[in-house]
Amino acid sequence: MMDSFTFPGLTTRVIFGAGTMARAEEEVRRLGHDKALVLSTPHQKADADKLAQSLGGLAAGVFAGAVMHTPVEVTEKAVDAFRASGATVVVSLGGGSTTGLGKAIAVRTGADQVVIPTTYAGSEMTDILGETAAGEKTTRRSPDIRPETVIYDVDLTLSLPVGLTVTSAMNAIAHAMEAFYAPDRNPVIVLMCRDAMAAFRDGIPRLIDNPQERAARTQALYAAWCCSTALGYVSMALHHKLAHVFGGSFDTPHAETHAILLPYTTAFNEAAVPDLLRPMAEAFGGGSAGGGLWDFARSVGSPLSLKEIGIRQADLDRAAAIAVRNAYANPRPIDLGSIRELLQAAFEGRRPGG
Ligand code: NAD
Repeated sequence: MMDSFTFPGLTTRVIFGAGTMARAEEEVRRLGHDKALVLSTPHQKADADKLAQSLGGLAAGVFAGAVMHTPVEVTEKAVDAFRASGATVVVSLGGGSTTGLGKAIAVRTGADQVVIPTTYAGSEMTDILGETAAGEKTTRRSPDIRPETVIYDVDLTLSLPVGLTVTSAMNAIAHAMEAFYAPDRNPVIVLMCRDAMAAFRDGIPRLIDNPQERAARTQALYAAWCCSTALGYVSMALHHKLAHVFGGSFDTPHAETHAILLPYTTAFNEAAVPDLLRPMAEAFGGGSAGGGLWDFARSVGSPLSLKEIGIRQADLDRAAAIAVRNAYANPRPIDLGSIRELLQAAFEGRRPGG
């Protein structure tokens, strides 16, 4: 029970189900558009072409050049393609990289966005855009960035490889973890995050056994929606900051970086706010939220140590220094020594709390 809160009542229209991609045309028209540019990565171009076909006369083309971390050079090409096509709305089909490109176009052109997410990373419900220019990643938040409509289609996640299933679920869990202690949290978000933790805990192990199991895919995509909504409603803290340090300054892969850091950042803040993180401890067992998450990560084959993704012992001092450079809200005060300790444990992959 929270004594006081603000519920901002943000609106993104959400369609959830199986086969819902077929509703893209209706949703584009509902927003009042008659020309749409479809976006994807090169890897998902065939799916994007199929989607464009299903849009019939609405389709103004496909731009299949989305890449990780939204480099501005790619955005500039995509904006040119968007303007040349005469489209007024983008339909982004893919994971966070494609959603990021759609947001980058929207913020520059005023385009509306229909997003069809195919991973659990959780960019689709947020007003956050991370972009890379001259090797540096910066993040901003603005209402213009938040997509108008999100279509979750369980069928599109059946092809998600097991590795990305696990790591993008851990990425989503990280949004919920930080939402539980966010100063601007509200009861709706807390309830959604609790439900999401149970759904991922039960769904992910089943997907490792059978990646095509529709019921488990439905559970996991529902959980992803909850976690993405949480990220779009509240502010993030140490965990997201650290993931950003590694992605931005050491070029580590996004989902794996989140997955590895999560048990350690959770344990770090659990020392200050154990009551707020109790739902995580209850969901994952193991006696503590950090330890329970590490046990879960290990059981689902998620990477456990920074050294597995190419970080060297010699990088840790620099990473810690960058992480403490600018002040930001966190439930436990941050200092160089304690962050350095956290990073050492994450580097080695030691279970937090022993
Ligand atoms: P991704 O979008 O880069 O996808 C990884 C690869 O998997 C791509 O080649 C993609 O085409 C492929 N893929 C995606 N779905 C698939 C499917 N169902 N079947 C087969 N292949 C599929 O990875 P991601 O983890 O979803 O996104 C990471 C990016 O999202 C990062 O740049 C991160 O910063 C951003 N992100 C942003 C926010 C936000 O709110 N702004 C939130 C989360 C992540």
